[in-house]
Amino acid sequence: MTLPTDTLIRAELISFPNDPGDGNLPHPGSLEHYADGLLWLKGGHIHAAGHYADLVDQLPKAAEVIDHRGKLIMPGFIDTHVHYVQLDIMASYGRQLLDWLNDYTFPAECQFANHDHAKALSEAFLSEMLRAGTTTAQVFGSSHPGSVDAFFAACQKRQLRMLVGKVLMDRNAPDALMDGVSGISDTERLIEDWHGKQRLGYSVTPRFAPTSTRAQMDAAGALLRNDPTLWLQTHLAENSGELDWVAELFPGSRDYLAVYEEAGLVGPRSTFAHGIHLDNGMRQRLAERGANIAFCPSSNLFLGSGLFDRDAARETGMAFTYASDIGAGTDLSGFGTLKSAYQVGQLRCQPLTAWQGFYGLTHGNAKALSLDSHIGQLAPSYEADFVVIDPDATSLLQRRSQHCTTLGERLFALMMLADDRAIYETWAGGVCQHRRDA
Ligand SMILES: [Zn+2]
Repeated sequence: MTLPTDTLIRAELISFPNDPGDGNLPHPGSLEHYADGLLWLKGGHIHAAGHYADLVDQLPKAAEVIDHRGKLIMPGFIDTHVHYVQLDIMASYGRQLLDWLNDYTFPAECQFANHDHAKALSEAFLSEMLRAGTTTAQVFGSSHPGSVDAFFAACQKRQLRMLVGKVLMDRNAPDALMDGVSGISDTERLIEDWHGKQRLGYSVTPRFAPTSTRAQMDAAGALLRNDPTLWLQTHLAENSGELDWVAELFPGSRDYLAVYEEAGLVGPRSTFAHGIHLDNGMRQRLAERGANIAFCPSSNLFLGSGLFDRDAARETGMAFTYASDIGAGTDLSGFGTLKSAYQVGQLRCQPLTAWQGFYGLTHGNAKALSLDSHIGQLAPSYEADFVVIDPDATSLLQRRSQHCTTLGERLFALMMLADDRAIYETWAGGVCQHRRDA
């Protein structure tokens, strides 16, 4: 892709340089808002972001300004836990976790032995993500290494910042999906071929404790010790049936988290999906290691897994992120994830402000993934990954926005009422990669 030297976009800009806190108003210094702003891109990065009036005199003479007044630009949304191989089983009826895996997930993942299928699904998934305004995700492939080659190749073509890994699974799964000893050597080969290439990163991916032997998890831990730039993604404490099963399989471990600790899988680049059924001791241990829990509200509601406790996370200092968990999640859109997070919060008397939600989806998620020096903000030297939001995308949104008097109200209305129709454009690497009306 050849990038123009300077790209200039005039629009309202919103970005969160710091955590806004839990109050009704954001902490001072946590919000950058330019009602009539200018975003100036150079070679795939942000060169400047500020008030249009302050920047207009410095603009290159012949440069054309894209006029997006009336639209709102935010950093691209980040999804810390999602399974691209489960796109086609979204909205499969009515099961809890362990039945869901056996009835829907494993049969769907078996199809990824076919490379053409993996290629087609990679393309379809990335198109859906960009349509939803998501520019970075941490992604599970299937246990077939080809599923990850196909996904990385599709990301490379679009120059996206993405993390992905091959599922490690050497027991308690269908024969066609178990990898055995080749699981680790295939992972090593994928790391060698893809990790650190352009904007791609490898996330070591044991599915969860019940489907990996102790030996496989130990070997995964050794990979992380050898290369601290790798990421780790797995599942933890999602469902009570799963908890009982883990206790049965690992009678010598003091609790579920200890199984991962013993293998060396818990560190600052580790993401554990769900973490619904944790005690404060486990939360504190996760906090001490700097790991994060991916809160996947629409998935937790869909599978009836339980209500994530954000206050307990805050009180113990445990980092958490926002994620879709497609295919058990019901919404690829970051707006949809925040709407479900708000609803889960309401059932726990822990309402979620729009400040917290949009900070979490952008800078917060980037920080938990150690990507916050590259993405998550509209600021000089950051990668030019952002969304152009149309607050009047539907007649209902238009009616609602007319009655909003503050920025907080407008953002909250978007969080509750917007979907992919409100994503007017999605830019990644300084290139417009999705345009709603194209
Ligand atoms: Zn998951």
